[in-house]
Amino acid sequence: MHLDRFCVKCGKETNELIRGLCVQCHLEKNTILDVPSKAMLDYDYRSGRIKVGREWIEKSSENIEGLVKGLVLKAASQKRMNVDGLMVLLEPHDDNINAAVSFGTEVEGVMVKLEKKINLILRKAVSDATTKLSSNYFEATIQARFPENPTQKQQRERLEEILSALKAEKKRNELAEAVAVKKSRKGFDVVVASYKAADKVTRLIAKRNRLKVIYSNSLFGIDDSGRNKYRHTYCLKFSN
Ligand SMILES: [Zn+2]
Repeated sequence: MHLDRFCVKCGKETNELIRGLCVQCHLEKNTILDVPSKAMLDYDYRSGRIKVGREWIEKSSENIEGLVKGLVLKAASQKRMNVDGLMVLLEPHDDNINAAVSFGTEVEGVMVKLEKKINLILRKAVSDATTKLSSNYFEATIQARFPENPTQKQQRERLEEILSALKAEKKRNELAEAVAVKKSRKGFDVVVASYKAADKVTRLIAKRNRLKVIYSNSLFGIDDSGRNKYRHTYCLKFSN
C-alpha cells in the first residue's frame, strides 16, 4: 500500500518532509545554518593584502573563496552539520565583495540545497609590514661580490636573479622586499626588509650557482621585549 505524504503547509505531495514540511516551507521558517550576511575584512590597499586571522594574505579570488568557505565550514561544524559540494561565486566591487555560497546538507534524512549571500566589506587598514616598508625598515643586506671588474651586464643579471627570488618569496612574506640597492667597489648590496627572506634567497642562489653563503651579523639594538636585535649580512661571492 502506498501512502501519499504531503506538506502540511502548502499541500505539496512529497516524501521529502522535514517535520511535516516540504523543503521549501521548512527553509522559509528555519535558518538551517547561521552564516553572517556581512563581514568586515581589513584590506591594505598599498600591499593589496587582506587580513585573515593574524596573517596578511594576497587579496586573490582563491584566498577570498577560502575565507568564505572557512566561515561556512566553521558555522557548520558548530552545528555538527555536513557540507556537500560547497561552491563560492564572487562578485567584486570597489569597496566590497559579494559572495554567493551554495552547498548541500542533510536535514533529518532529507538532502537540502542551501544558498547564502555574504557581503564582505573592505575596511581600509595598514599592515605592520607596510608601515615598516614605508619607513625604510631593514634587517639584512645581501652582498653580491665579484672577483674583478665585473661588467654591467654580469652585475645586472645577478641583481635580477636576486630580485626575482625575492619577488617569489614575497607571496609568502610581505617583508621579502629590496628596500635599496647600493653600488659597492666589487659588486653591489641589496638591502632587504626581512632577514628570513634574505636568508632563503641567498641559500637558493648559492645552491643554484654552487657558491657558499658567507654570513655575519651585528648587534644594533634591543627590541620591545628586551631581546637583542641584529642586522644580518649574507655575502655571495660570484665567480663572474
Ligand atoms: Zn510546503
